[in-house]
Amino acid sequence: MSLNTEAGTVAKTRKLLSDCGLRTTAARLAVMHWLQRANSPSTHAEISADLVPMGIDKATVLRNLTELVEAGLVTRKELGDHVWRFELRDASHPDGCEHAHFICVDCGRVTCLHKFDFPKSALKSVTEVGNVTEILIRGHCLLCQ
Ligand SMILES: [Zn+2]
Ligand SMILES: [Zn+2]
Repeated sequence: MSLNTEAGTVAKTRKLLSDCGLRTTAARLAVMHWLQRANSPSTHAEISADLVPMGIDKATVLRNLTELVEAGLVTRKELGDHVWRFELRDASHPDGCEHAHFICVDCGRVTCLHKFDFPKSALKSVTEVGNVTEILIRGHCLLCQ
């Protein structure tokens, strides 16, 4: 990544944070940039594994994740295995119902399904029961089959 791109990313993230009333701190930037690079929801442990060597302790990572969730920049999900996973809010789904996820019941790997469209008719029948907050598909991933 060139220095220019890096500076551009920092400026963009700083704007995102200030739009949500959050100050830009080194830890917050590091957490945001980590999530921007991730391509699936990640656990506090996975994020900390990279950030602790940078001098950001686990408690600080967790506090920042929680603040980003409260600010609406990050979503926190529990995909049925009692582990919280964090991912950047998907701006392409402003209605709150985000893209679906596939979780492997063998290895626990989570994959974002950006192209999975829940049929409108199905969604309608669900709204008679409640509000959809998460679409989760479980199965055996290709590596585990
Ligand atoms: Zn698997
Ligand atoms: Zn996702």
